[in-house]
Amino acid sequence: MRLVSYDDGRVGYLAGDAGDAGDRVIPLPAGTMREVIASWGAGKLAVPDHSAGIPLRDVRLRVPVADPSKIIAAPVNYRDHQAEMSTDSQVRALGFFLKAPSSLLDPGGTIRLPYHDRRFDQEGELALVIGRTARQVSEQDALSYVFGYTGLLDITMRGGEDRSTRKSFDTFTPMGPVLVTADEFGNPDDVELRCWVSGTLRQKASTRDLIWDVARLVCYASSVTTLYPGDVISTGTPAGVGPLTAGDTVRLELSGLGLDLEVQVAADNTIASPTSGHNRGPVPPPPPGLVLEPVWN
Ligand code: MN
Repeated sequence: MRLVSYDDGRVGYLAGDAGDAGDRVIPLPAGTMREVIASWGAGKLAVPDHSAGIPLRDVRLRVPVADPSKIIAAPVNYRDHQAEMSTDSQVRALGFFLKAPSSLLDPGGTIRLPYHDRRFDQEGELALVIGRTARQVSEQDALSYVFGYTGLLDITMRGGEDRSTRKSFDTFTPMGPVLVTADEFGNPDDVELRCWVSGTLRQKASTRDLIWDVARLVCYASSVTTLYPGDVISTGTPAGVGPLTAGDTVRLELSGLGLDLEVQVAADNTIASPTSGHNRGPVPPPPPGLVLEPVWN
């Protein structure tokens, strides 16, 4: 099933061709996505047929899981991103970091940059949602704890502050628009990812190139902390991160989702950063399109 949260957070599944404007939302009887996931975990998820439905264009899509107990994210989990950040550390050395659940942003929402003197980058990522309580699960069993997959933008302030600070500003975790159940999504380690900023393709990769694949991430995360239904794990971003500015549109496409995640960027009422990590931390690549002028004489 391709599930969406919509309007006041109720859940439905999409009927019709992926991405087709004729898609209809078929409401599920259970309440929020967390309740739908709990019903699934108990083997009691009731699915109504196609008879009724709402045209997709008539609903307001919301973030698929609005209230995860935690958002776990992998730092530096693609080698090409490790290279562009000029860092010798990656997931195997760093473990994971946490993003505040209050940073979640609905599809179609607006990322609000807080400071005028810092760089903020897009990071397009594949994310998974946990389906049942997982504690110290093996790599072999890990995928059976995954409810489904969705798109996530790990918006990031560059610098030396802790990752949990730099990535937890309100609006810094756009997620969705569709949560595709694991049975329908297929192999999470063979997903094509593309991310555009204002029409320019910045990121193009396959999850085949993840340093730690999905099963390894779930296994490792569950060895540190109990994973609860609805928890989100984001798998990391490939090369091609770059700065965002007011007026940008960010679009993330993942094969297998059918609908893209698109958000806007604004920078109203910005202030100077209260922290001084500006010239510290991993060094990001130069902005795309920056051309060094040739020197002729
Ligand atoms: Mn990231």
